[in-house]
Amino acid sequence: MHTKYSRDASQQPKTVVEKLNAHPTLNTIAITDHNTIQGNLEAQKLAKTYPDILIIPGVEISAEEGEIIILGVTELPPKPWNAENIIDFAKANNGLAVAPHPYRGVGIGDMARQLHFDAIEILNGITEPSLNKQAEALARTMGLPGVAGSDAHDDKDLWNVCTEVRASLETDDILKAIKKGRVRSFSI
Ligand SMILES: [Zn+2]
Repeated sequence: MHTKYSRDASQQPKTVVEKLNAHPTLNTIAITDHNTIQGNLEAQKLAKTYPDILIIPGVEISAEEGEIIILGVTELPPKPWNAENIIDFAKANNGLAVAPHPYRGVGIGDMARQLHFDAIEILNGITEPSLNKQAEALARTMGLPGVAGSDAHDDKDLWNVCTEVRASLETDDILKAIKKGRVRSFSI
């Protein structure tokens, strides 16, 4: 999801943390603002006072080829921001590279087939079902795990979809489980 640190979004990190803590079933979220990690770091700091939730570090980078989400990293990749550099940076830092909404306008599209992604976003909460279906087919043909992302830019889209991951509440364990495909995506 996004926070106000993405120019096109409105949520305060504090609100996200409080809402996550109050949610009856969800206990973690990846905050992936556009090209900045500031909102994520702020939320992580705030989340430290709540023992039962986790903010997964991450960022959504506008690469030359299309948008790329990297998880598990606490700083921005060095420029130039082309897909290969960003994915290599994620891997070198024990992170995970995801192709978000690959078939939406700003997505990376079929070029994902030539890149070394760890997962494909097969269910994006604000993307047309037909384009999500195409993303699902992409994940299947590439043999990659599929994840869900709300892509929430404001309150109304928060928690519209989620990813169930069989892991402990720790970033490294969650990312490992996603890589191994111990995931299930669904709408809520
Ligand atoms: Zn995006």
